[in-house]
Amino acid sequence: MNIKCLIVAASAALSCWNVFAEPVLVPAPRKMTVRSGVYCASVADVGSIEVQEMRDASLPPEGYRLTVTTGGVSVASADAAGAFYARQTLRQLAEGAATGAASAPLALPCVEIVDSPAYRWRGAHLDEVRHFFGKENVKRVLDLMAYHKLNVFHWHLTDDEGWRLEIPAYPELTRIGAARPNSWKRGGKPHKVGDRRVIDRNTESYGPYFYTADDVREILAYAAERHITVVPEIELPGHAGAAITAYPQFACMPEGARERIWDAGWGNTVDVFCAGNDETIRFLERVLDHVCELFPSKIIHIGGDECPRKRWKECPKCQARLKAEGLKETNDLQAWMTRHFAQYLEKRGRRIIGWDEILSGDVPRSAIGMSWRTSQKNGTGDKLTSGAEGARRGHDMVMAPHLLCYYDYRQELADDPFQYIGGHVPLEKAYSFDPCEGVAEEARAHVLGGQCCNWTEFTWNEHDLAWKMWPRTCAMAEALWTAPAPRDFWDFYKRMEVHRRRLISRGVNCAPLR
Ligand SMILES: [Zn+2]
Repeated sequence: MNIKCLIVAASAALSCWNVFAEPVLVPAPRKMTVRSGVYCASVADVGSIEVQEMRDASLPPEGYRLTVTTGGVSVASADAAGAFYARQTLRQLAEGAATGAASAPLALPCVEIVDSPAYRWRGAHLDEVRHFFGKENVKRVLDLMAYHKLNVFHWHLTDDEGWRLEIPAYPELTRIGAARPNSWKRGGKPHKVGDRRVIDRNTESYGPYFYTADDVREILAYAAERHITVVPEIELPGHAGAAITAYPQFACMPEGARERIWDAGWGNTVDVFCAGNDETIRFLERVLDHVCELFPSKIIHIGGDECPRKRWKECPKCQARLKAEGLKETNDLQAWMTRHFAQYLEKRGRRIIGWDEILSGDVPRSAIGMSWRTSQKNGTGDKLTSGAEGARRGHDMVMAPHLLCYYDYRQELADDPFQYIGGHVPLEKAYSFDPCEGVAEEARAHVLGGQCCNWTEFTWNEHDLAWKMWPRTCAMAEALWTAPAPRDFWDFYKRMEVHRRRLISRGVNCAPLR
């Protein structure tokens, strides 16, 4: 060890991190052996550390073996993703060793880490409809996801309150559908008007905000460099308000639909896509064609949640479809649509995923469920309410139960300046998430993983978003990366005391641990 390195190692030991103690890593690795000694890299920037990389087919997908000796750093992995994750671990090792002097050479602790993820879907979702964050903020989310070894970005692009993806064949989607004449007022409290739950609104127009094909390509390239798959979501048949404001003819009751939707203000509108209108189906096919052209993801999200049946019951075209297809009841129209689009996308080499409502009824086994409901009181009252049931029936499942995974729910902090939609997901509860909880042993292979959901009705900007995402997304990353529960929350908490400072030094508006 040269004298400069010795000084670095000694000052690191005296500062917040001790080079001879266990390095702090989030998510925790599967197996770490700390050896004596340090490797003194002659560079100050972790990205410049020389790493000997090799392929080892005996390692699991996305897994890696990272070895730091006094002589240097080597990484073995089965694939490029594994090598990338080894780099993320190296980054955290180096940050642990940082002394604060930007030009000082890095002193890394000698370790051997053998690591691989527990789940292959390690996701974070972002609702860009209720509030729009834009390219640079999305890239920031992707950066932080990669740093925590998350690999699926679920991009919620369409809903009642906005349409955020330009579709060249349908310019009104973004000219009209990407804007709205009013929004919820910051600080506004939900209250009841008759039997409707409403929140005070302002009268400021919002938007148009949307992504062009070039914007999307830029984000996709950025995500691909970070081994993140972007799964776009096009909501159908419900949560279709913005599309209907642009093209009312695709609703069951076009007259006055735009005004009704703009006036609804909160929650999902009763005006949904008409299941009986062939033109509506063709419109959705063309939208999905464009989505398939743009997005390389093998999995496309078709929404499917909370679709009111009121219009379908009254609509002659929907009722005619019911008869023509030999369906028993109005409810079956959703399964009919799910089947139609599952087959349509399958012909284009894609698989559908949808909120767990899509699994009600006769749908192909290839359909993936995203489980958000935890009781029959939620959703539309269909029988299938849990991810465990979906997996039992043989569907691949992504778990996102709202009681644990919705980060627009309160963190229960003593002093919290931000507003939440409600609920209760403090850090410890977020950390307790186990995607296989309640799933029968023989069905567990169907659990692809899980994700946090960042709905943004009450999330106005990137500072607000970061506060809600972090540190809870660290808990999500660890729940999805590390071996099955029970995990030790206090061990996580102690590491997070160090790791939170790293996030803050990166400029992340990370909330306190409690
Ligand atoms: Zn209809």
